[in-house]
Parts: sequence; structure tokens; C-alpha cells
Amino acid sequence: MERFIVSARKYRPDSFESLIGQGNIATTLKNSILRKQLAHAYLFCGPRGVGKTSTARIFAKTINCLNPGPGMELCNKCESCVSFTEGRSYSIHELDAASNNSVEDIRQLNELVRIPPQIGKYSVYIIDEVHMLSSSAFNAFLKTLEEPPAHAIFILATTEKHKILPTILSRCQTYDFNRISVEDIVKNLTDISKKEGVTIDLEALHIIAQKADGAMRDALTIFDQAVAFCGSQITYENVISTLNVLDYDYYIRLTEHFLAGNHKDVLLIFDEILSKGFNALHFIGGLSSHFRDLLICKDNSTMPLLDLAPSIIRRYKEQAEHCTLHFLYDALNLTSTCEAGYKSSGHPRLHIEIALLRLCKINAPAWVGEESKQEKKETSQVEQKKESKEKEKEPVAEEVKQIKAQVAEEAKPQANEQAPEEINIKGTVEEEAKTEEKEEKPEKRADVKPAKINGNGGFNSISIKDLLNSAGKNSGKTGPGSENRIGTDKIDADKLNEVWAKMAQSESAMPRLSTTISQTAPVLSGENQILFKVKNELQKNWIAQHCKARLVEFLRVNLNNKDISLEIEVTPDEEVEEKLYMPQQKADFLKANNPEVKNIVDDLNLELK
Ligand SMILES: [Zn+2]
Repeated sequence: MERFIVSARKYRPDSFESLIGQGNIATTLKNSILRKQLAHAYLFCGPRGVGKTSTARIFAKTINCLNPGPGMELCNKCESCVSFTEGRSYSIHELDAASNNSVEDIRQLNELVRIPPQIGKYSVYIIDEVHMLSSSAFNAFLKTLEEPPAHAIFILATTEKHKILPTILSRCQTYDFNRISVEDIVKNLTDISKKEGVTIDLEALHIIAQKADGAMRDALTIFDQAVAFCGSQITYENVISTLNVLDYDYYIRLTEHFLAGNHKDVLLIFDEILSKGFNALHFIGGLSSHFRDLLICKDNSTMPLLDLAPSIIRRYKEQAEHCTLHFLYDALNLTSTCEAGYKSSGHPRLHIEIALLRLCKINAPAWVGEESKQEKKETSQVEQKKESKEKEKEPVAEEVKQIKAQVAEEAKPQANEQAPEEINIKGTVEEEAKTEEKEEKPEKRADVKPAKINGNGGFNSISIKDLLNSAGKNSGKTGPGSENRIGTDKIDADKLNEVWAKMAQSESAMPRLSTTISQTAPVLSGENQILFKVKNELQKNWIAQHCKARLVEFLRVNLNNKDISLEIEVTPDEEVEEKLYMPQQKADFLKANNPEVKNIVDDLNLELK
């Protein structure tokens, strides 16, 4: 039986020409030999498997070749070349620093260096993994490196340049080896598979090249593995099952479901992936890469960054057309956050499932034509601006009325964070209603109009705080639109108590607030002012900040009096001490009672929880 030689050894490059993906370094080294400008020490740095040792050997062999070609090609026939190929050269020495890292080993080397070469002009010492030398060994070596004999040349190779002492670095000519591109690996593998009589898909070669992550040696090892598994006919399916790589098809299908907001299929596919034994974290990492690749497909100028087989690129381009940039940015954001939080998650599977569900929500429900709609929106904005100026006077009052009504609707407790955009513009519209005659504000108006027209989708969430702040601005006085809707009834004490109880009920979504309201009797002070007595500063501030505007609106509507104002007053009650349950309440309390804490929090922009 013929002895099997692993491809990584069999196809190890043996000349500068056969080096893969290190063209610049090969050219520089060859030129230095041609010009007879050889340094005494070289340092080859770079990731494993990219050809550092091979380059060192070729270089060593070439400078000692007795009959080099005109372009400094090896003859591979002379005594020096043959003895090196047969592993019996006395001029070229290889030392593995990983296993010979003691001072004693280096002392022996220092002795050896003094002996001139038997054949050829130079004694070449290739020291692999040089970062593994102990620091005393490094120091012992430094002496030799400072004053080497004329015939000695050192080639140091390392994957970890940062571990090399600066004194060593400064005495070496340094060459940084790059990872080999997927394209170069695929090309080389194609040649090798032809020589080996193996037929293999281009997609399969791409998968191998990607898995090798820039290392030709790894690519060849994986190639051998695939040959061992499949024989001389290697297909994409064979390779992904041998290498346990998740098929592109999964990511493409998942993305289709994300776009369609189809969360059921997404969860089922994820389950299928897990049941095939794939690591969940790798899966989410792969999903990130998929979105990245789709983003790259969006623009022809970035296409060269894509390391995929041509047939797969076509599918990616097709999918990229369905994805808006907005979708891809959001999706990348979600997956990277998910990856970052995976390790610390107590329930990793759920952690990923939540991220997948969020991905489904980005575009749902109607994604087809989303982009074209977006474009239309933008182009028509200018027209809307004009339009809005034309019907400025009359409709503004109308708008205010509508918006006011909506504010009242939304200000009720069920108001959620996804409140439509119209609310947000309340303040703006009212302001404009006042100032419209004095000056035009085209930018603002442009903001207002599209929001009004497109705002019913409710996708652009605004914070409830913004909403209440804008409503709060007008809570003291009444806006010009109010008189159209709410009257000026005199406040009756019984009616007030009744409405007050109703208000407590309506706040049932916020149990503590609801209890506070129901336990406090409203006090009528002055004609339209209602006093709301609370137990401490903290409560007062919290209510003023978070729900005062809503309560005022509720009272105004239900008591039909647009002039009502609500005054929150603290009446300390020693017996009923406020208890702080939630971390946020404790934090607020701390801040409210310690100005220094508050200052620190504000200065450093911290979040106290
Ligand atoms: Zn030769």
C-alpha cells in the first residue's frame, strides 16, 4: 500500500513562486538576495499556518544554492539543495524554541554558530516559536545576535510578536505575514484537488477556506479530512456535515422569516439547529456574519469583501434586495448585543430566542415594498412642506383639537410606551398656533406634517417621559385649543370626591399610585386649584414628574373645567413611613436626600439603580 502523505506536507511550497498569498514578502526577500543585501537576523511574524517556516526554509535554501537561476530560483540539484531536501544539511539548522528554550540550549547554539558552513556561503539558523525562549535564554541569545560571525544568518519565526524582547526586535528585519485570503486558498485547493484526482464543488472549497481562517496548512488538513470522509467526490453537503458547519441555507431561510415577521417558523428552525448539535453561540455569531454579508451585498463597491462562492453570492444579493438598511443595522445591533450577553445569561436558549423574536419585530408585518414607501415619503416631504404652509391657518386649530383629544386618550393609564407620534407634537403645534402669524418655521413644520400623516403606524416609539413633558408644559395654563372642548364648570366637592375615586381606579395599572390617590382626600383650595397631599418629597417629585400631567388632564375632562390645576403638597406623616421596595425607589430616595450623591450621579452621567 502506498504511504499516505498529508497534503500539508506533500504540497508544502518549495520555492518563492509556490508560496501562497505572501507575494510581497517573497519579492522583497528575493530582491535582497539578488542585491546581496542580506541582514544577519530576520523575524517572521504572523498567525500559524500562513507559511512562515516554509518561507524561512526557501530563503535559507536559496541563499545557499550553488547554482541559482537568473531570477534567484533554486536549482534543487546542487549539493546544498539536495542535502537540505534530504534533511542532512550542515549549513541550515532548524531549532524549535518550544522544546529547546533553556539557557543551556542557547549556549549550545552559540557554540555551533562559530563553526563556518561546510557547503554554501552561510550557516542559517531557523528558530521557530522564538517567543517560547525563557528570558534568560533570550539574554544569552542576545550576545550572539549583537555580534554574529559573518557567515551566520538567523531567521526567527513567531506567532506572538509582542512577546519578543525589544532588544531582539531592534536587531531583526521584521516581516509580517498576513492571513491568506479565501480566494487564494480556494485557488490553491483547486490546483491540489486536480492533482489528487478529486472532484470538489466550488461551494465546498469556500467552506473549507473559510473554516481554515487564513491558514493554508489548516485548509489542507481539512481537505484531507473531507477526502477521507467522502472519497474522490466531494460535495458541499458532505463538507458541511463533515465539518459540522451550519448551512447558509438556514440563515437565508431565517432571514426570510425575520423579514416576514414569522416568529413561529423562526423558533422551529432554531430548535432544529440545536437538535443537530450546533452550538447556540456559534449560531448567533453566524447570524451576525450573515447580516454583515447582506449589508456588504447592498453596495457593489463593498462586494470584494465577500468571501463566498459565486452561486451563493447570487442568493445573498437577492436577499439583500429585500432588506432595508434600517433592517440590517437593527438586526446586527440585536445579534451583537445577544452575543455579548450570552455568557452571562442564566437561560442561554431563551436569551437567543428573545433576540430572534425581536428580529421578527423589526420589519413586521409588511416588509415588501418597505423601501420604496420610504423613498416616496422622503421625496414627498418637500411637497408636504409646501402644502402645510398653504393650509396653515385654519387646520392648525383643527389639528390642535384632534391632538388634544388624543392626548386625553393617551394620558389615561393604559398609555403605553408605544404611543403614536402625534402626541409628541402637541407642544409644537400649540406653540406654532401662537406664533404662526409672527414667523414661519419651515423645518419644524416639515417635522410635524409627516408625523401627522404617517404616524398611525406607531413604529417609532417615543418615551413616555417626552410625552408627559410636552403635556406637562401646558398643564398649568390652558392651551388655546382647550376651550373648544372642556368647559369651565364650578367644582363641586362631592363631584370632586367621586371623580377622585374614579381616578384612583383608572390608575390601577400603577398600584402604588392608585393606593396613594384613594387614600388621600382631595382638598379644594381656591376656585380651581386642587391639593393633592402626599407623605414625602419623594412621592411629590415622582408624581410631579411621572403622572401629574395625566392626572390634571383626567380631572379637567371629568370635572369639565379647563382651568383646574393640581398642587402636590407634602404633609409629613411620621406614623405612616414610606417604605421603599424597588431598587429604583431606593436609588431615587438616596438621590433626593443626598445632594452629593445626586451631583456625582449627574456629573458622571451615571445611572443609579
Ligand atoms: Zn541548488
